[in-house]
Amino acid sequence: MPRGFGVSGTRLTIREETTVHDHRKLGRELDLFDTDPLIGSGLPYWLPAGAAVRQALEQYILGVERRAGYRHVYSPVLGKRELYEISGHWSHYSEDMFPPMDLGGEQLVLRPSLCPHHALIYRSRAHSYRELPLRMAELGGMHRSELSGVLGGLTRVRAIQLNDAHIFCTPEQAAGEALGALELIRRAYAVLGIQAVRYRLSLPGAGGKYVADPELWERSCKLLTEVLEASGVPYEAVEGEAAFYGPKIDVQIADGAGRESTLSTVQIDFHQPERFDLHYISADGAKHRPVMVHRSIIGSVERAVAHLIEVHGGAFPAWLAPVQLVAVPISEAEVPAAAALVEQCLDQGLRAELAGPEHGTLGARIRAARLVPYQAVIGAREASAGAVALRLRDGRRPEALPAGEAVGRVAAVVAARSSELWGG
Ligand SMILES: [Zn+2]
Repeated sequence: MPRGFGVSGTRLTIREETTVHDHRKLGRELDLFDTDPLIGSGLPYWLPAGAAVRQALEQYILGVERRAGYRHVYSPVLGKRELYEISGHWSHYSEDMFPPMDLGGEQLVLRPSLCPHHALIYRSRAHSYRELPLRMAELGGMHRSELSGVLGGLTRVRAIQLNDAHIFCTPEQAAGEALGALELIRRAYAVLGIQAVRYRLSLPGAGGKYVADPELWERSCKLLTEVLEASGVPYEAVEGEAAFYGPKIDVQIADGAGRESTLSTVQIDFHQPERFDLHYISADGAKHRPVMVHRSIIGSVERAVAHLIEVHGGAFPAWLAPVQLVAVPISEAEVPAAAALVEQCLDQGLRAELAGPEHGTLGARIRAARLVPYQAVIGAREASAGAVALRLRDGRRPEALPAGEAVGRVAAVVAARSSELWGG
């Protein structure tokens, strides 16, 4: 296994006395992510173990979206200043944006959201009403000029990877699409083990940071209220939390200390389609204005992983675990059998590592791997029989199985994204 990053490299100490986990502390102890003053505060990098968790999460979200009829795009993290003047970010949101970069007589801006790019992608082709709802998704980068004083860990960062999507649809389809997005959020939370503490209808407040168009606000507020009523979730309306261009539904989560933050959002937007002069051709051949439903299932990947680290205390469900199975040969003689087991796991798409005798005593290797969902200790008996006796992270020890069968059962648990380590 690669030194310093694998199971033997963790510096985790046992802290069973506390159940409140801080993702910043665990992130370092478990070698998930870190920061460097030379890269800058609010700009964490992901170590291999953290990158594995993030990749598993991203693959899950991409799959959920594909099955729900979304199509994915990629768009650049920069755009010309004019783009954000049109979207309204420049006049309503520039305090949160990085200063523009001068380049060859133009000004380029690190984007503060993906919406303007997606509006342009929609606008680049003619669309018939038959194509709607058109669901466009991207796991894309964006930036926010957070002050250094509030930075730390993965929750307040300057470079954000956002799970974002925009649904271009008719006004009649908007509520149904927003409701569908809430349902995707509900299902994702169940799979991820995340609890929503509150649904919030975020309305505009006093002050001039919102676009002025009372009719627009009224229409979206009315639709979002209908969506929340139809979904049956309890919610509360809070003033002063809307986006500058419209109200939104925020799904709130809380950390171990009870501090609330927004993870997921759903918005119904009549403003951006106007600004970008978007249209579709209806059955009678006339041009009509679509509505944009903005939605994010898990918000930023950074905040989602921070929350998952704290919720699971580093003991991730098998499908999210950085290492899913560690093969532990008792002595040098069983190393070939353990290596073969690791190969079998890799062939099945699992993340598996070998913790050989060079990593310490048997007890030390098992302790170092205590957050790994499956430990396969291979002694002379298992090696000669081609069998595997698994120890599960929760202490259970199912009966020894032929290696292929054991790997198959682990792969099935991972493929089902089960929260259980072992069926039955
Ligand atoms: Zn958006």
